[in-house]
Amino acid sequence: MFSPDILQNILLICVLMVGAEICLQDNNCRLPNCYCGGRDTPGNLLSSEIPQIIVFSFDDAVNSENYQMYEKLFLNNRFNPNGCPISMTMFVSHNYTEYNLVRDLYSKGMEVAVHSVTHRTPTDFWKEASTEELRYEIVQQRKNLAQKTGIPIQNITGWRSPFLQSAGDKLYSILQEENFQYDSTMTVATENGFSSKFWPNTLDFGWQLDCNVRPCPKGSYPGLWEVPVMMLEKPFAPIGCLYLDSCRPENKEEAFQLFWVNFHSFYKGSRAPLFYTMHSSWLREKHNYDAMNYFLLTILHYYSDVFIISYQQLLEWMQNPTKLVDINNFKGWHCPKRYLNFVQPFVESNDLNNVNNSAVNDFMRIPFLLSLLLIVLMIL
Ligand SMILES: [Zn+2]
Repeated sequence: MFSPDILQNILLICVLMVGAEICLQDNNCRLPNCYCGGRDTPGNLLSSEIPQIIVFSFDDAVNSENYQMYEKLFLNNRFNPNGCPISMTMFVSHNYTEYNLVRDLYSKGMEVAVHSVTHRTPTDFWKEASTEELRYEIVQQRKNLAQKTGIPIQNITGWRSPFLQSAGDKLYSILQEENFQYDSTMTVATENGFSSKFWPNTLDFGWQLDCNVRPCPKGSYPGLWEVPVMMLEKPFAPIGCLYLDSCRPENKEEAFQLFWVNFHSFYKGSRAPLFYTMHSSWLREKHNYDAMNYFLLTILHYYSDVFIISYQQLLEWMQNPTKLVDINNFKGWHCPKRYLNFVQPFVESNDLNNVNNSAVNDFMRIPFLLSLLLIVLMIL
């Protein structure tokens, strides 16, 4: 009887009359700075027009124990369909982190985000900490990352609270005051055992989904993105897992199914972004590492409409939803050219080698691309 636009206007008038604040996309909330989230697709794109985005993220220290795994999985001449290297996001805490390795991974296209200085226990600390304590954990760790690696501080834009324990409005006030672009602490549970498919949202109207871990933000934080940790479904199990760690597959087949079942569900569904969230310790189990490696190779080999990117790249797309047909011209996903700041005096001098190595690696890719071109020409 009424068009969706008229219905939305009626709803807006009702909302204004009762004084409640509800986010209505393209009405009181507009991209690129505001997005209501939920199940609605940005830009009203059809699922067939949307690049399937996959975001891998890793929490805690970055050091020689996990560097080699990250390098083999993500830096091994692995490219998205637009020809740019695949990426991921590391939420880095201070203790046991080797900052020269963080810098190396950043210089090769990975995203670096903040995950506290102390990562202290008990979990409730992150709920009950004073504003000063929380601000120190957030701001000081961003400073550590910038000063000890040379990464421009404005390029470190994301935060995740230890143990996914939010402090509610206290946390989000600090993130907004300190000019963070996004938080990734909130959680979304599975629905009847199946993965939920929600898009990230800005917090202009607070947190609009179920509050799984209290306290959740009630205030308004215009333009601050929430990219929640989505619980993945575990095949043949009633309960899924937020971190892959807690799904505990027993062999390579089970681990691969964990990746594959969730991918298939998103790819054949609405194509909301898919998040694999984990600690690197999960990959120390060889069958988990092998399954993830095989999953990555399968995706990169067979799918020209799937992109493995960082949180920052995801938000670039959210702010400018771009159809698959135009994706190669999408500026937000152009290959990163990273020039690190002058190294601070207290960083060891041999770290400079890592910066030079990244330039060498870029150069080494040219013969690979030429040979790839030759193979394509031979096939044609
Ligand atoms: Zn952690």
